[in-house]
Amino acid sequence: RQAQYRRLRNKPSVTKDGVEFSLQMNAGLLVDLPHLAEAGAAGVGLFRTELQFMVASSFPRMREQQAQYEQVLDAADGKPVTFRSLDIGGDKVLPYLRSIQEENPAMGWRALRLGLDRPGLLRTQIRALLKAAAGRDLKLMFPMVADVSEFMRARELVEKELKHLRRHNHAVPEKIRLGVMVEVPSLLFQLDELLAQVDFVSVGSNDLFQFFCAVDRGNTRVADRFDTLNIGFLRALKRIVDKANKAHVPVTLCGELAGRPLEAMALVGLGYRDLSMSPASLGPIKAMLRSLDAGRLSARLLPRLEPGHPEANIRDFLKRYA
Ligand code: PEP
Ligand code: MG
Repeated sequence: RQAQYRRLRNKPSVTKDGVEFSLQMNAGLLVDLPHLAEAGAAGVGLFRTELQFMVASSFPRMREQQAQYEQVLDAADGKPVTFRSLDIGGDKVLPYLRSIQEENPAMGWRALRLGLDRPGLLRTQIRALLKAAAGRDLKLMFPMVADVSEFMRARELVEKELKHLRRHNHAVPEKIRLGVMVEVPSLLFQLDELLAQVDFVSVGSNDLFQFFCAVDRGNTRVADRFDTLNIGFLRALKRIVDKANKAHVPVTLCGELAGRPLEAMALVGLGYRDLSMSPASLGPIKAMLRSLDAGRLSARLLPRLEPGHPEANIRDFLKRYA
């Protein structure tokens, strides 16, 4: 199997009916980067910047952050990297950040909420990213956005930092693209407004599922209670990809769903063409894609998501189909 996946490394990610895919990988530390070449990923679809903060004993300074981002971009060697701004709080705790007791940390003061309330922190990270990507492309997305206005405020901070760097004659990125992670269900009903503002979106299916079904992703009693291929959630995922395509805004999915073959099949059927996953999943997912007829799958899957279809168990359907 491993040898079979290695042989696939340099083969294109294309289905039997000629539909092309972009398979990227998720990463969070420099040690992950060699996988880019080993696994044949098209880029880093999600770089979790909080990892550097979680392994440090105190807040990494601007220069340390910049050095890390430079090394990531160097290692990617021209392949695209999508950085995600700090996603701390919730299940991601920093020992040196005085933690406040919260009744519901997943829905608490975390990620971009914390960044907007402590703009010094976020601006430092943004400055480090802008400097690291000087003369290159920078792709940056913000986690846990629940309202379009949060993205606008984050973008303002980027613009302020950019102005500051220019004023001091620092080199800046050649091109900057700013995006949002779709991982809070409230965004599902602001997609038109959101898509009019962003350069790209990336579905964080881990958190989106957690909030969509109200099941704590870290609580084993409930985490697996509902099928991730339930009709409601699949309709939500379809709504995102349809709206993004219509608005001509690139859409990726970077949660764990993308790395599981049956779930990834469902994503293909819904219309997702750009997936980011853990490096170990790239081989199996590429093998699945190359044996699949995407058009035929969509034609069989989509009617099953319509109201009143007698067969509601999508997992069983996909198992039989596979
Ligand atoms: C997600 O929520 O799906 C995601 C990709 O981000 P994380 O798992 O880091 O919360
Ligand atoms: Mg998330």
